[in-house]
Amino acid sequence: MNQIDFINFKGKRALVRVDFNVPLDKETYEITDDTRIRAALPTIKKILQDGGAVVLMSHLGRPLKKLNDDGSINHEKFTLKHIVKRLSELLNTDVQFANDCIGSEVLAQAQSLTSGQVLLVENTRFHKGEEKGEEAFAQALSQLGDIYINDAFGTAHRAHASTTIVAKYFDADHKAFGYLMNAEVANAEKVIHQPEKPFTAIIGGAKVSDKILIIENLLEIANNIIIGGGMSYTFLKAQGIAIGNSLCEDDKLDIALKVLQKAKDKNVNLYIPVDHIIADKFDAAAQTQITSVNNTPEGWMGLDIGPETIKLYTSVINASKTILWNGPMGVFEMEAFQKGTKSVALAVAEATQNGAFSLVGGGDSVAAVNLFQLGDKVSFVSTGGGAMLEFFEGKILPGVAAIQQ
Ligand code: AMP
Repeated sequence: MNQIDFINFKGKRALVRVDFNVPLDKETYEITDDTRIRAALPTIKKILQDGGAVVLMSHLGRPLKKLNDDGSINHEKFTLKHIVKRLSELLNTDVQFANDCIGSEVLAQAQSLTSGQVLLVENTRFHKGEEKGEEAFAQALSQLGDIYINDAFGTAHRAHASTTIVAKYFDADHKAFGYLMNAEVANAEKVIHQPEKPFTAIIGGAKVSDKILIIENLLEIANNIIIGGGMSYTFLKAQGIAIGNSLCEDDKLDIALKVLQKAKDKNVNLYIPVDHIIADKFDAAAQTQITSVNNTPEGWMGLDIGPETIKLYTSVINASKTILWNGPMGVFEMEAFQKGTKSVALAVAEATQNGAFSLVGGGDSVAAVNLFQLGDKVSFVSTGGGAMLEFFEGKILPGVAAIQQ
């Protein structure tokens, strides 16, 4: 597999798939968080510094799923034009824009680029061929560059035209991961293929159903699995423990029991909360109590892990050499229920300082480490929510395979 660092882009036109699916203000369409744009800069700058030209493509939202009332595409909302100004500022150059991502006009624009110039093409998802992974559409995209670089890890789990299919029109010497994608894949592979032991996976969040595949796969490789958040209650109820009004997926009780059994069979320590903070309603100003998980009064619900659980989880984390964290330990968006998530974040940061390798990924755990300003105290924060989850579920990501083959 080729590496971006080994490619000299001088005189070449690189077609780069980035993830510019950034949040926009609903009224003004101003970018409210430019993290994803910044994340793509090292790759773009490397190509420009070599003396190459860059054609950038990305999706933004789901324009074909959110059509106007008359069935037309809402161009105003989903156009990548919203990105041009910020990107130009960040690159310190005037970024050109093409009103479509395929066709003779954009092709001519791409072909007329000179060294150091950047062209951003319109939202790939304006075409149905994108999400369907249509070959003809992918081939049309491929004409925009001499070399294909994929730097969009966030969409690597989709076999879309611009993330996967397009790669087949470039031979092994003319395609590579960008820096962001390279780091994501290398760090994720390090955790899954060569974790230094003990390897602890911390899995939290609302629902077991979202995390069951990742837990099942981790049972094959982890020494410890720590469970927190709303999903704990399906495990507790499955063992006959009364959980009051806590979140529960009754159709997943069987699976929870199977996971508990499998953990025993495989000698994996699976930790479930022993105490928790309960509330009389789902509200930041609810009345709260700390109880053992065996003592949840009827009508109350568990919204965070308790002090004994924090102590237990912290000691497991501190003794770990590899840590994977996905999902909060409680309703961390409300101050009254954020101590568990914060304590786990601090424990992961401390273990990292003591030499452990820690990877945090998935939307809400990333939000949590950022909220507690611990993002630079863990080894790696993954930007790819769904892609990262699917990777740790043991799936092959089509966008990764398309480059590695
Ligand atoms: P997920 O997207 O599955 O990682 O879930 C994250 C969401 O789970 C966050 O919005 C949390 O507020 C929520 N959550 C965590 N713990 C609980 C809990 N005990 N009860 C209800 N929701 C929870």
